[in-house]
Amino acid sequence: MAQSYSDQQLQAYLEELLSADLMASIEAELRKSEMLRDRLVTLVGMREAGVHGLGEIWRRNRLTCPSRQQLGSFLLGAMDENLQNYIQFHLEKVGCRVCRANLDDLKSQQSDQKVDTQLRRRRYFQSSAGYLGKP
Ligand SMILES: [Zn+2]
Repeated sequence: MAQSYSDQQLQAYLEELLSADLMASIEAELRKSEMLRDRLVTLVGMREAGVHGLGEIWRRNRLTCPSRQQLGSFLLGAMDENLQNYIQFHLEKVGCRVCRANLDDLKSQQSDQKVDTQLRRRRYFQSSAGYLGKP
């Protein structure tokens, strides 16, 4: 059974906005599936008719991007399961580069915060140990 791709994925494919893996698997599928080629031809036709200009596709795709706050909750695993699944899909299947960059940024912020907390704890421990150590 052929894998199916959404119109949005195919449009993103045309704009080369997908991850390298997904680009490659769509290309492989295009070689096998006449149906998929037909759909792509239709999409290209719509694009050329000005229905989906590059700017419009970009804005539409960006509208489906989760907010930075949602990405933060996603990292913590603290959100609705449906939304969690959607964001996972958005990052891994759609391979949105904007959100991946955002997520990487959030990850490095979180690990910075962790280091801060550890440092604070250690300082607190040392100062209270010093205090308690005095007779
Ligand atoms: Zn995104």
